[in-house]
Amino acid sequence: MRGMITTGAVAAAIAAAMILAALARGPRGRGVTDMDGKKPNREGAACGSCGSSNASGDEKLTPEQRRVMRCGGTEAPFSGEHWDRKDPGLYRCAACGRELFASSAKYDSGSGWPSFIEPVERGSISEKIDTGLGMTRTEIVCAGCGAHLGHVFDDGPTPTGRRYCVNSVSLDFEHEEDSPVSEEKNDAAPRAATTERAMFAAGCFWGVEAAFRKVEGVTETAVGYSGGTKPDPTYEEVCTNTTGHAEVVLVAYDPGKVSFRELLDVFWKIHDPTQVNRQGPDVGRQYRSAMFYLDDTQRREAEASRNALAGSGDLDKPIATEITETGPFYRAEEYHQRYFEKHGDQGCAIH
Ligand SMILES: [Zn+2]
Repeated sequence: MRGMITTGAVAAAIAAAMILAALARGPRGRGVTDMDGKKPNREGAACGSCGSSNASGDEKLTPEQRRVMRCGGTEAPFSGEHWDRKDPGLYRCAACGRELFASSAKYDSGSGWPSFIEPVERGSISEKIDTGLGMTRTEIVCAGCGAHLGHVFDDGPTPTGRRYCVNSVSLDFEHEEDSPVSEEKNDAAPRAATTERAMFAAGCFWGVEAAFRKVEGVTETAVGYSGGTKPDPTYEEVCTNTTGHAEVVLVAYDPGKVSFRELLDVFWKIHDPTQVNRQGPDVGRQYRSAMFYLDDTQRREAEASRNALAGSGDLDKPIATEITETGPFYRAEEYHQRYFEKHGDQGCAIH
């Protein structure tokens, strides 16, 4: 599995995220690569060698749970049920029911997977050295049934400094029903600032990235390709206008400083959303205007924002912007990242 491979606290806190869960197997199978350019998870889809398991509790597991828990797979980040869960309760092994993590140990690592600083007790999980994919990591498994949970890293916050990075599907959440005290405490102690993400296509990604980097509250950006069909495309392939991908910018931002709605305002201003499959001299589907939403809230806000602009009378042509669900994000080659900072604004027309 390749999911949890951030190498440092910065990556975990800011970008981490978004690894391609190869080719969207389940209904939740949205795949996105890491802003850090981690390669997509290609082995994710098929179990192949592991076959079925007779471990207790397995009969209730879904195929996706078997893939992750019995075959060491990785779910797509930001896709699981628990990565953003904040309510008080207990996380149990989805196969055998063993108590694994308490919500009080959970924090927002920005990775898109549920992250904890410690297990509920020593001995509730076991650690194994995982040398797959050419790197050495520490795999964590349920001490009760051996189910694969995820990995543990040494880049977590204090006091433990550890980050237990776990697949949502490996966990069952047990809500702490009668705990007004805990809920109160939860409200009284708001969680640390979170990082949210948004993905836009508005023509050549060099200029779009430069524009978003100037927005206060934007903490990280990456340019790449999304919305097409070919896995792991190169710039040259995207430029042939046959892969279906758009040049996109993935934006990480602090919602306490800038809202998604404000990012949409920036998006509308920095390009001409009435142009179809082009921006100025850049012609082709890869330069289309598009907003790739990550969840339903973003979809609704994007549609409302588009409708408001359409009804404003500011545009003399219809808006061509496509608002579609996010698919895999493939980070572009390094020389495209922050291009204008490296090369100055030299225009974009390269075909
Ligand atoms: Zn278990």
